[in-house]
Amino acid sequence: MGEFVRGMQELLWPTRCVCCEQPGELLCERCRRQLPWIDQQWACPCCGAPLGRLTCTECKKDWPLRSCVCALPFRGPGARLVTCFKDGHELRLAPVLAAAIATALDEASAWPAPDQHPRFDPLAVDALCFVPATREAYLRRGFDHMELVARELSWLLELPLADVLVRAEGSDQRKLGREDRARNLADSVEVLGDVADMHLLLVDDVITTGASVAACAAALDKKGAKSVTACALARVW
Ligand SMILES: [Zn+2]
Ligand SMILES: [Zn+2]
Repeated sequence: MGEFVRGMQELLWPTRCVCCEQPGELLCERCRRQLPWIDQQWACPCCGAPLGRLTCTECKKDWPLRSCVCALPFRGPGARLVTCFKDGHELRLAPVLAAAIATALDEASAWPAPDQHPRFDPLAVDALCFVPATREAYLRRGFDHMELVARELSWLLELPLADVLVRAEGSDQRKLGREDRARNLADSVEVLGDVADMHLLLVDDVITTGASVAACAAALDKKGAKSVTACALARVW
């Protein structure tokens, strides 16, 4: 897109803050400063839920992940960012989401995972992968939004991107109940490529029940991955 066209577009449809709608930036300075970050010190090291470090209401400390780090609660700004990005097609938010996840990972690096190592250590991760969109979502939106975020995050963290997870044929998750969802997912993720002996960082946008990241972790585990640490922009909580 040329500079001129961009300039015209900006005049006709000015960029607005996704949180407060003020023209200027996609996420204005004021809203950025007020983001309700999950305090990593007190977050659950197993499922990433806020305040779950000692007693977690969101998991039984049994998620099949080495650790899980989420940046924001899925409401207010956290929800606005995801919705505008995925459903509002505001693809320029990909680096914003990636930067928020990188910030949370950086903070989480100061706190222990259940294995007593830091929840995130870039030197202990071999590659980054992402939860793939369902075929239905891909067709509906025309792109895999998490791939865009993962590419930005891989650049920020200086970690290679392993685009290894794909969806097999499956029914749309949104029409299924919680248990069917987990079963459907477990069957529907496949690993294409070699992940043997790798420590992986798995990226998703929103973590709710953990079914998606668990299915991906199980598929990676089956192919010989050494560990899977999950991270996400938002945690339903
Ligand atoms: Zn704002
Ligand atoms: Zn938990």
